[in-house]
Amino acid sequence: MTDAEYPLISSLLAGMRCRCPRCGRGRVFACYLDVATVGAACGLDLSREDASDGPAVFVVLVVIIVLVGLALAAEIILSLPMWLHLVVWASTILGLSLWMLRPFKATLIVLQFNYNAGEVLGGGGAGQQE
Ligand SMILES: [Zn+2]
Repeated sequence: MTDAEYPLISSLLAGMRCRCPRCGRGRVFACYLDVATVGAACGLDLSREDASDGPAVFVVLVVIIVLVGLALAAEIILSLPMWLHLVVWASTILGLSLWMLRPFKATLIVLQFNYNAGEVLGGGGAGQQE
């Protein structure tokens, strides 16, 4: 099948589900954050797609905005001791960041593929535009 014969899929939906940007079924990652060299469903090679530091920047921005608001609200409403703030917010930041990093990286890879941004960076994106 050529790229034009695959159905159009939502970049955001495919990215959040960590699915292949071309067919929407195969996985983007072979491991936690290692991009799959060949997709299991359609054979797409994603090894040249590189999201670089982009996902980490977006994750940090989202986590900071959400958790600073929650920490301030918790302090104002509950007046928690500082050691409890440290335990709660440090573990929440770590867990939320690790949980969000994968779908954010997949979304950027899917967007790079769909908008042929990989060619600018030397990648092989041959995707379709929505
Ligand atoms: Zn695929």
